[in-house]
Amino acid sequence: MSAKSLELYVHIPFCVKKCAYCDFLSASADENTRQEYIRNLLEEIKEKGKQYPDYEITTVFIGGGTPSILKAGQIADVLEEVYRSFSVRPDAEITIECNPGTLSFEKLSIYKTAGINRISVGLQSTDNDELRELGRIHTYEEFLQSYDLIRKVGFSNVNIDIMAALPGQTALSYEKTLRHVLSLRPEHISAYSLIIEEGTPFFEKYEADELLREKGDKPLFLPSEETEREMYEQTKELFAEHGYERYEISNYAKNGYACRHNIGYWRRENYLGLGLGSSSLVENVRFHNTTNLLDYNRGMFGQQDMEVLDKKSQMEEFMFLGLRMTNGVARKDFETAFGLPVENVYGTVLDKQVADGLVKKEAGRIFLTERGMDVSNYVMAQFLI
Ligand code: SF4
Repeated sequence: MSAKSLELYVHIPFCVKKCAYCDFLSASADENTRQEYIRNLLEEIKEKGKQYPDYEITTVFIGGGTPSILKAGQIADVLEEVYRSFSVRPDAEITIECNPGTLSFEKLSIYKTAGINRISVGLQSTDNDELRELGRIHTYEEFLQSYDLIRKVGFSNVNIDIMAALPGQTALSYEKTLRHVLSLRPEHISAYSLIIEEGTPFFEKYEADELLREKGDKPLFLPSEETEREMYEQTKELFAEHGYERYEISNYAKNGYACRHNIGYWRRENYLGLGLGSSSLVENVRFHNTTNLLDYNRGMFGQQDMEVLDKKSQMEEFMFLGLRMTNGVARKDFETAFGLPVENVYGTVLDKQVADGLVKKEAGRIFLTERGMDVSNYVMAQFLI
């Protein structure tokens, strides 16, 4: 019998300083705190490895936070423990998230020796005023230095994160960001729109903008909806022109470089979160680690909020996560997972979405049309039973 597969996510909850829009579980911390965390993380990896002896690891994603804030040796220790405690496939995709200004040639070389084969760099914008407004720790020039080092060390699978709809951003400045990034020829680009989260410094300014919008005035903080729509169209057009395939709503890749870790997540494959606040989904059971650092450092990395997903939730997730990908979902995968044709559950919804030109059924697959992608939030909501 072949081994079951499992993806690993390893959370590093530390950053140099907090960005103004960020609500991720991350904070600045001193050297001792970071070291103590890593000590406990190694314990957790060891412990969890014993719980999943029948699984083979297909991808490892070290995310954060800013994992590259750690000493390279700490990352190497984490991966070494992963290899020791789990059975990692030789062709596993192993990614680390990095921020410009935290990398050196030596650090990147250690990553490479430790088995990391994919680097994801958070750039967000190539406009230094926009970066400052976001509270990022780096300039565009510092990003370029980091990118150059990444290539010099020999990484050939690199993602760059960028963001649209930023404060002060115009269609022109966004286009410059797109063109600068394309000129670097990364294998993968993630292009998300800024989401304003409650509790972040950006939230108050956003509320003031909302009042202006309600009165029909132009927002002062964020670009208007028309500008945001223009940015969205620019992204699609320019990336397609440069040979990037849009394989998910916000993700673009050169042929063969789609992120396997994220695809696994959208396909609802098993994933196990390690580290503070990480989430897991294994055999249709969801659970989380504690978000309290003191508890975590006391060794409380047991599974919290265990939720066994019923068939209805599984079907909903299957559809709305799967439809995020441009090739959508396979009807036979639905049938294999749930023992009945997708039409038995979603016949009426599908007929309506197809008639409205938002969904297409072709060659055994169901996927969003270009227009469906443009209004994906609306379409996904139709698949809630
Ligand atoms: S670097 Fe990333 S995780 Fe850290 S504060 Fe900024 S956005 Fe949040």
